[in-house]
Amino acid sequence: EAKTQGANSVRLFNPDMQISISRRLHLESALRRAIDERKFELYLQPQVDAAQQITGGELLLRWHNQEFGQVPPNEFIPVAESSGLIVPLGNWVIEQACMALQQWSRHPQLRELQLAINISPRQFRQSQFVDYVAECLKRYQVPVGKLELEITENMLIENVELTIERMSRLGRLGVRFSLDDFGTGYASLAYLKRLPIYQLKIDQSFVRDVLTDSNDAVIIETIVGLGDSLSLEVIAEGVETAAQAHALGELGCNKFQGFYFGRPQPIATWVEQFERSLTVSTTSD
Ligand code: C2E
Ligand code: MG
Ligand code: MG
Ligand code: MG
Repeated sequence: EAKTQGANSVRLFNPDMQISISRRLHLESALRRAIDERKFELYLQPQVDAAQQITGGELLLRWHNQEFGQVPPNEFIPVAESSGLIVPLGNWVIEQACMALQQWSRHPQLRELQLAINISPRQFRQSQFVDYVAECLKRYQVPVGKLELEITENMLIENVELTIERMSRLGRLGVRFSLDDFGTGYASLAYLKRLPIYQLKIDQSFVRDVLTDSNDAVIIETIVGLGDSLSLEVIAEGVETAAQAHALGELGCNKFQGFYFGRPQPIATWVEQFERSLTVSTTSD
């Protein structure tokens, strides 16, 4: 009797939920294999200044799996995070970024560029995180100020003293911190003063309706003002149109990232295009 009831209560489960749990388990084992086999790609999306000059870019993970097809990061990063796989995966991203920066440092134009990577909370919390980054910076002789770590506000509030200590150590090694999705989290503004943060990244949800929603425009203006007061760089992400870029400029924002300025592309393709664009502009001078 109890057994039947148990079986019945299992069937009461929302079928969508069962599918998503089984998909999650499948994804997790596929992820594990993909990490062992290094089956990921890194795409680069450029960041530009007010003169539309490229100042660097953000690396974004891409994963194509035979069974699942192209799996978006918003789906596999949470699985990697909850399973702990984010640590080996994130370490791979850190190493790839440092390798790229080493190559770029030998190139007359690429050497000026910064490279940003995303860091998950679980990655940042593990005790070897700072040592791992320090070791990569050293092994690949990464120039000071070129590696940027994007973290989110919610990561700051967990263990403030430890966070300050880790960020400060990395800051002394020449790492810059950017607060990703800024404005959507729960960190108190008071932390901004205490933490070695370099940049605020305005979340794309505020950029999307900047032309039509005056609340969003006010929020952007406020973030820009905050950045000015605290001497932090401010960048807007998710800029899709010239009109949005213009509106952001009017609100005082002078760094941008988004489809309007360039879609994420495989890092090698992006570098080739960048080099070609330089050749074109020098020969046409
Ligand atoms: P994010 O760090 O906020 O990255 C920005 C996301 O917005 C990227 O999505 C990018 O492709 C997308 N995007 C860029 N420009 C535009 C635009 O103009 N319009 C719109 N609608 N979207 C734009 P993506 O690559 O799918 O990544 C989603 C999220 O996954 C990232 O958000 C980040 O939180 C996470 N992620 C990606 N790569 C990594 C990684 O290497 N490590 C970790 N921990 N997280 C990552
Ligand atoms: Mg990011
Ligand atoms: Mg973001
Ligand atoms: Mg995000």
